[in-house]
Amino acid sequence: MEYICTAEDSKRIKGFCMEKRENADILGCRVDLLTAEEAISGIKAIIDRGKPAHIITLNAEIVYQAQASQNLREIINSADLITPDGIGIVWAGRKLGFNIRERVTGIDLFYRLCQEATVEDWKIYLLGSAPGVAEVAANQLAATYPGLQICGIHHGYFSEEDMPAMVQEIRTLVPQILFVALGAPKQEMWIKKYKEQLGVPACIGVGGSLDVIAGYKQRAPGWMIKFNLEWLYRLLAEPSRFKRQLVLPKFVGLILKSKYKGRI
Ligand code: UDP
Repeated sequence: MEYICTAEDSKRIKGFCMEKRENADILGCRVDLLTAEEAISGIKAIIDRGKPAHIITLNAEIVYQAQASQNLREIINSADLITPDGIGIVWAGRKLGFNIRERVTGIDLFYRLCQEATVEDWKIYLLGSAPGVAEVAANQLAATYPGLQICGIHHGYFSEEDMPAMVQEIRTLVPQILFVALGAPKQEMWIKKYKEQLGVPACIGVGGSLDVIAGYKQRAPGWMIKFNLEWLYRLLAEPSRFKRQLVLPKFVGLILKSKYKGRI
């Protein structure tokens, strides 16, 4: 499968670069060249601005899926802030000559934003994961960040019919940050569809973060994260992810093809 960046994708990617900040183009998907601290500053600016915004923490699996879906590419490229989450994205960006300085993961942003929320007096809403998980995660967060205002919680197994009531609840509670843990790319599609109705300034997809915060799943030990082996830990801890991770060598192949295209 080979994806050629369309004129529309290209316009969005370049347009963002000119108007806002430096970014990389990885197989037609934009990634902003931000460190974790710069991403936090960007999200603060987004919250100050007050208009609904979509924040994505991008990994190689989503980019690979986006090769077969123009809709997903458009959702990614129209997001307001995109961080390089997985090591695959960091590797690919650097291979293609972009200055990606570090990984900026969903879970790290989650913790940092909770810390900021206590200082800035922001309210947060937790959406996603199996029934009961977000409640346990909320208790953990409340214990770690005294004063954190968790204004609402909803599990991630809802139907279209539940949506009007959920949108109404979130609108009424007026959080500054909505953490959406539905897994990628479902959460990206959901945020794109509902962010204007919700009116929440920072809507961020955080994958399986609530499971980790609640303690139902473990993050890789520090040394594995340091040596960029978090993907291996997740694979060993959840062998069912094997099929999903089969796309990684294919992603590597596409990046190498894109880099050396025309040179052979
Ligand atoms: N999930 C959900 N609703 C759904 C499908 C998934 O809330 O319809 C949750 C699931 O319970 C899990 C998370 O989304 O908590 C996905 O976790 P995973 O680690 O697979 O996400 P990734 O970080 O790989 O995107």
